[in-house]
Amino acid sequence: MEKKIGSVIIRLVRGDITKEETDVIVNAANTSLRGGGGVDGAIHRAGGSEILHECIKKYPEGCKTGEARITTAGRMAAKYVIHTPGPIWRGGQQDEERLLASCYRHSLLLAEKYGARTIAFPSISTGVYRFPIERASKIALSTVVENLPLTSIIEVHYVLFSISDYQIYEKNLQSTIKEEKGD
Ligand code: ADP
Repeated sequence: MEKKIGSVIIRLVRGDITKEETDVIVNAANTSLRGGGGVDGAIHRAGGSEILHECIKKYPEGCKTGEARITTAGRMAAKYVIHTPGPIWRGGQQDEERLLASCYRHSLLLAEKYGARTIAFPSISTGVYRFPIERASKIALSTVVENLPLTSIIEVHYVLFSISDYQIYEKNLQSTIKEEKGD
């Protein structure tokens, strides 16, 4: 599914984010930036060891939850990977929503700083970190839509691994756009 907000294309894609040909792909990393499971493992496998080496060299301290760091994309088609550690869901009283929004906002602004025009996001925090997908998808969509005017980005992809996640994003993309238009 694809929608336009102003001149920006928002596309929902089902599949594997490592195959995306956007300028940037975003990685749902952990704070060590030393690789992990899920989408993080897939990105490091597909991109090759160059990504891990750059993380170790440039970011010895790792990265705080809600912030973002950039590396090459190694062997993948993308130019860059932006690594952002999402919050672990602990019931919703530990600032999880603000931190998740911060991941999307920081990733978008860092992509802009590097001149990216196209970016692909996975569903940050909704795997092993257990953030409820319904709430997470609304935050993912609304935070990007709100911050897009601060960038020159022309295309945003949300790459969803499962059909059920895709359907939730589909429903919430419709309502996000309606709110945006003031319908
Ligand atoms: P987190 O630790 O932030 O929860 P996970 O990697 O466990 O991160 O999960 C985030 C989401 O990414 C989940 O919905 C998971 O199904 C999905 N995912 C896993 N592998 C891929 C991939 N190759 N491409 C896109 N999404 C993926």
